Amino acid sequence: MAPAIHKTRQDVSELFVAHLRAERTVVPEELTAIARRALRENFQKAGMGVSGANFAVAETGTLVLVENEGNIRMCTTVPRLHVALVGIEKLVPRLADLGVFLRLLGRSGTGQKLTTYTSFLTGPRRSGEDGPEELHVVMVDNGRTAALADAKMREMLYCIRCGACLNTCPVYRKIGGHAYGWVYSGPIGALVTPTLVGIRQARELPFASSLCGACRDVCPVRINIPDLLLHLRGQAQTQAPLRAASLLSERHMFRLWAWAMRHPRLYTLGTRLARWGQFLLARRGWIRKIPVYPASQWTLGRDFPALAPQAFRDRWKQLRRE
Ligand code: SF4
Repeated sequence: MAPAIHKTRQDVSELFVAHLRAERTVVPEELTAIARRALRENFQKAGMGVSGANFAVAETGTLVLVENEGNIRMCTTVPRLHVALVGIEKLVPRLADLGVFLRLLGRSGTGQKLTTYTSFLTGPRRSGEDGPEELHVVMVDNGRTAALADAKMREMLYCIRCGACLNTCPVYRKIGGHAYGWVYSGPIGALVTPTLVGIRQARELPFASSLCGACRDVCPVRINIPDLLLHLRGQAQTQAPLRAASLLSERHMFRLWAWAMRHPRLYTLGTRLARWGQFLLARRGWIRKIPVYPASQWTLGRDFPALAPQAFRDRWKQLRRE
């Protein structure tokens, strides 16, 4: 969902100036027109288009692709060759089953009745039609069969990738998609990634949740995400326990934090020092890079909010005086 939403108009403009030698502008319509011109040229020159698929209908062999921008339709129809990579869980039995899923996807993803472009592709072009001369479909397993065999985790394969759980998740909204480190982010990413790449490779993801249950409430296919996250946490503890050193340093950090919270004067002094010390790093309320471990790990994937110029306690005192 919206992979470049964290970029401002100014960022996009700078990118276009640097890479497309475009005129500098921050008007959305003009930026869109620049992207359109540059991309169209590439689509027309490409020999092969590669896409995924939102659904694949077993009955007719139809690939179904939904999007709001039109780039997928360009990619699958303009080049001579189209290759579609389709996860095996995308199969629906009959065309008649599709209506339910298309409605669920549009409404849960973006609140639309139906996504702007819904393409049905059944084979390469026939005489008198547009489209590719050849169409190749690659069914991707990549750990999905193993997930299907797991009585608990198979529920994860119901997902239709609407993104509703991302939008509602308080953790995702704070840390952003890049922090999840793989293709899928948010609550569903915290299930999919450890299941497909192995809990040892992604042991921290199931812990990136407050278990508030907002994702479960909003999910149109009713995946019990918090329950599956707890299941993966159990796996993480048994199959990939934290090393003693990490555990110890985590414990020490929490002890230090608890101690500071019990000594408000020292805590206030600490935040004052930190506020003073951050002036070298903070720009417009954000710190882009912290050079010291472990905080440096945070800024690898996202910015860190700088301390407010005035502490809440000081502000509160001031307000009461006023
Ligand atoms: S888990 Fe549910 S809410 Fe999240 S993307 Fe999948 S279908 Fe949508």
